[in-house]
Amino acid sequence: MLTNDTLAAWDRESFFHPSTHLAQHARGETASRIISTASGVYIEDRDGKKMLDAFAGLYCVNVGYGRPEIAEAIAAQAKELAYYHAYVGHGTEASITLAHMIMERAPAGMSKVYFGLGGSDANETNIKLVWYYNNILGRPEKKKIISRWRGYHGSGLMTGSLTGLELFHKKFDLPLAQVVHTEAPYPFRRPDSAMSEREFSAWCAEQLEALIAREGADTIAAFIGEPMLGTGGLVPPPEGYWDAIQEVLAKHDILLIADEVVTGFGRLGTMMGSDHYGLKPDLITIAKGLTSAYAPLSGSIVSEKMWKVLEDGTDENGPIGHGWTYSAHPIGAAAGIANLKLIDSLGLVANAGEVGGYLNAGLADAVGGHAHVGEVRGEGMMAAVEFVKDRESRTFFDASEKTGPRIAAALAERGVIARAMPQGDIIGYAPPLCLTKAEADTVIGATADAVKAVLG
Ligand code: PLP
Repeated sequence: MLTNDTLAAWDRESFFHPSTHLAQHARGETASRIISTASGVYIEDRDGKKMLDAFAGLYCVNVGYGRPEIAEAIAAQAKELAYYHAYVGHGTEASITLAHMIMERAPAGMSKVYFGLGGSDANETNIKLVWYYNNILGRPEKKKIISRWRGYHGSGLMTGSLTGLELFHKKFDLPLAQVVHTEAPYPFRRPDSAMSEREFSAWCAEQLEALIAREGADTIAAFIGEPMLGTGGLVPPPEGYWDAIQEVLAKHDILLIADEVVTGFGRLGTMMGSDHYGLKPDLITIAKGLTSAYAPLSGSIVSEKMWKVLEDGTDENGPIGHGWTYSAHPIGAAAGIANLKLIDSLGLVANAGEVGGYLNAGLADAVGGHAHVGEVRGEGMMAAVEFVKDRESRTFFDASEKTGPRIAAALAERGVIARAMPQGDIIGYAPPLCLTKAEADTVIGATADAVKAVLG
C-alpha cells in the first residue's frame, strides 16, 4: 500500500482539483483528506478517522455509502455488457428499463428522458433542446435564458453562465450574452424586511416581469431554476413564489426548466421537487440522486409539449445532432435501477421528510437563538444555518473573516462534515436520505458545539 506521504506528494505534483484554491493546495495549506472507505452516513480516511458526512458527498449519495445491492448490479452489468452506445436507436436492457422507471416517477405531462453523465451536461442538453425547439417553431430570435442570482446549474460554458454565483464567472469571461439573471428567491435577504413572504414573492415576479420587458419577451426562450435554491444558500422558496413566477412565464410563452439535480428522487421528502412546489416544467434536469453517485449518470426529462415539436422537427431536419459517447451508459443505468429500487424498498423518500424535519427542528432549537445566527431554514433533508454579524440589522460578516469556513472546520474537528456554502456565511446540510434520528442528533450536537467554539 502506498504511504500517505507518497500520495500527498503525487497529489500536489499531478492532480488538478476542482473548486480548489490552487496556490494554497500547492503550498500544503489546505486540508487534504484522502478518503478510503465509507458505510451508511460515515466516511473514513486513510488514518482511520471516521466522519459523519452530513452533505452526502456533494448532496448526491442519497441512499448512503456501501450499498452492496448497487455495487453488485454494477459488477454484474460490467461483466455482461460494460458498454454499448445509444446512438441511432440502440439501447440496453438496463438503459431502457431505467428510462421507464424514471418516467414512472416523473411529474405529469413528461414524455421521454435523454441520458447524460452529470448535471452540467444535462443542462447543456436542455438549453440546446430549447434553442432547437424555438428554431423548429420558426422563432429564431427567442433564445435568451433567464436564470436566478444564486442559482447553481453547473460549470460548463453555458451552465456556468446560468449559475448565478460570482466565483463561477470571475475571470472566465462568463456569463455568455444569451444568459440574463433575475432576483434570487431568498427571503432572508429580501430588500425590505417589512415585506411578508408573499409580498416578496410578488416582488420577485415583478422583477422578472420588468426584466422580460427590458429584454423583449420575443427574445426570451426559457427560465431555469432549482425548485429550492441549493448551492446558492439552501433556501426554500418563499410562499407563493412558484405560482407567481409560472404565471409570468405562461403569459410570455417562456419555457420552464426545473433543475432537479439536487431535489430529484426524494431529497425534499417527495419524489420530485416539482411536485413538492407545484411546478409544471417543460424540461427537468436530473443527476446526483438518480444513481446516488455510485456511477455518473444524468438525464433531461422532456415534456410531451416539447417532445411533439422535436419529433416532428427531425422529419424535416434529419436526426437530432446531439449525443455523447457515454449517453445511457449501461453501468450507470444498472446503478440507477438498483438505486431507485433501494429508495423505494427502504422508504427513503418518507424518511427524508420525517428525519429531515427532525434535523431542521433540532438545528433551529440548538442554534436558532444564537446572537450570530440570522436564520435556520430548510426543507426535507436539506438545511442551512446562516450566520450574521448582527441579527437585528441583518448585517453580514466580512468575507475575510471566513466565519462559514471556520464553523465548517470546527464541525469537521467534531467528526461531522457540513459544507461552507460558496457565497455568504452559510453552513449547508444535505445528509444521505437514510439518516436516522440518532445520527441527526450527532449533527445537531456537533453544530451547537462548533458554533459555541467559534462564535462564543
Ligand atoms: N444543477 C444543480 C442544481 C446542481 O446542484 C449541480 C451540482 O451541484 C449541477 C446542476 C451540476 O451538476 P454536475 O456537477 O454533476 O455537473
